[in-house]
Amino acid sequence: MTDDTTDSTTGFSLQILGASCAVPNPDQATSAYLLRAPGTAVLLECGHGAVGKLLKYAGPEELTAVVVSHMHPDHFFDLVALRNYVFCHGLPKLPLFLPAGGPEILRGVARGMQLAEDYFDAAFTAHPYGEGLPFTSGALAFEPVTAVHNTVANALRITDSAGRTLVFSSDTAHFEGLVRLAEHCDLLLVEATSATAPVSGEHWHMTPSEAADIARRAEPRRTLLTHYDARHAAASLTAAAAAAPAADIDLAREGDIHVIGA
Ligand SMILES: [Zn+2]
Repeated sequence: MTDDTTDSTTGFSLQILGASCAVPNPDQATSAYLLRAPGTAVLLECGHGAVGKLLKYAGPEELTAVVVSHMHPDHFFDLVALRNYVFCHGLPKLPLFLPAGGPEILRGVARGMQLAEDYFDAAFTAHPYGEGLPFTSGALAFEPVTAVHNTVANALRITDSAGRTLVFSSDTAHFEGLVRLAEHCDLLLVEATSATAPVSGEHWHMTPSEAADIARRAEPRRTLLTHYDARHAAASLTAAAAAAPAADIDLAREGDIHVIGA
């Protein structure tokens, strides 16, 4: 479903390229989202399968930047494919916004593949960021807040020049800072990875009910559940709707374009 066909060259839009959790859903990419605003096209997350979907719906030529919320494979492994596309097509280097330690991890990945340590530098100029270090790309401003995950992860409040806002949870356990970050945003893109809460141990993701609690209290205009296992998608949506009956909640689905603030 595409909920609006407003001309995204004048507005701010989100296109879902991949909404799978770390275990890919059939024929689907893991985390990958395309943000468009005037003169701006940002690939938010580059999990495995992302570049194939980017080529299906847009093109790397269109990109003005890449943003990775955290250095887990389902959020950055297709940087290898994007690096090859940019390098082999002779495209200009892309700004690549990474969490603290990200550049070192990429050098380690290259080293592990017995490639030159500067392998990724052929396609990207890395810019580390994190809480307290907001950044911009074209018409979009990014405000990071540290999430609760088993590596450094950044939830992001993304605002265009007209003040329209998208909040992305990244991968995280439920935390109060996400309620504040998402307060009255236009669209909340929130992970609901865990179909059910784990019985024991630490919890680094949210259940649909926990994601819905963020929506219920932050009151975004719309909410999309993402980073889910397709086998549990229908039940997850039902559970989220039951936990926040007044909220407008749906699933992120590949190809859908959501106009922010529409
Ligand atoms: Zn993760």
